[in-house]
Amino acid sequence: MKIFLKTEEEIELMRAANLMVSATLAEIAKAIRPGVTTSQLDKVADEYIRDNGAVPTFKGFPNPCGGETFPASICTSVNDEVVHGLPNDRSLQEGDIVSVDCGILLNGYNGDSCYTFCVGEVSAEVEQLLRTTREALYKGIETALPGRRIGDIGYAVQTYCEAQGFGIVREFVGHGIGKKMHEDPPVPNYGRRGNGPQLKNGYCIAIEPMITMGSPKIYLTDDRWTVKTRDGKPAAHFEHTVAIHQGRVDILSSFEEIDKIVK
Ligand code: MG
Ligand code: MG
Repeated sequence: MKIFLKTEEEIELMRAANLMVSATLAEIAKAIRPGVTTSQLDKVADEYIRDNGAVPTFKGFPNPCGGETFPASICTSVNDEVVHGLPNDRSLQEGDIVSVDCGILLNGYNGDSCYTFCVGEVSAEVEQLLRTTREALYKGIETALPGRRIGDIGYAVQTYCEAQGFGIVREFVGHGIGKKMHEDPPVPNYGRRGNGPQLKNGYCIAIEPMITMGSPKIYLTDDRWTVKTRDGKPAAHFEHTVAIHQGRVDILSSFEEIDKIVK
C-alpha cells in the first residue's frame, strides 16, 4: 500500500477542487424537482464544471467490471440504485431519492463528494435512512484523527447504522484521494477498532457510507455500472473528502450551500 501524504499547499488545492464539487452539487440541488430527468442533471453538472475550468473525472472512467467507460459527469442513483447509476431520460418522481456523486479534477487535484437528495416529499422511513447515513458520515469523520486507524472509521459508521437496523454495503468503500481520484488506503464503512493503517497528518481520504434500508446485498445490473439492492429497497450515499492535518480532521467538501437550497 502506497499512501501519499499531502503538504499544506496540496491540501489547499484539494480544498479548491472539493469546494467546486460542492458548488456543482448545489447547482444540482436547484434543478431537482419532480419531472426532471437525471440526464438533465448531468448536463447541469457538466456545464458548471467546464465553465469553471475543471474536468469531470467520472466521464470516461474505466469500468472496473469490464464494461464501457462511464458515459456521464455524475453518477445518479435513484431509490434502489446504490451507486454508479447512469443518468438517463427517466423523470424523477415525487417521493424518489437520488444520490448524486460528483468528481472533478482542478489544478491537478481531485474532489469527490456525494449527496442524496429527496424529490419532493419522501416517506418518514426514507427520511430516517437519509438522516442516519448522513449522521454516520459525520461519525466516521469525527473518528478520523491522527493516531486513530482506518478500522475505527468503519467501526463508527457500521455500529451507528446497524443499531438502527440499516445495512452496510461492503463491496464499495471510501478511499484515499489526491492526484488520483482513488488512492490508498481503502476506507471501508465497516471494521474493527484498532485495525488498519494508522491515520497521520497529511492523509486525504474520501469517507462515503452507502447504507441500505433492508439487506445490504447488491447486484450489478446489465449496463455493467448501475449497482442495485437485491431486495429492491432504497439506499443512501453521502460522501465528504477530508484532510487530516494540523492534528485534526478538516472537511474539504461542504454541504452548506446544498442545505440552504434543499431546506
Ligand atoms: Mg464519490
Ligand atoms: Mg469516492
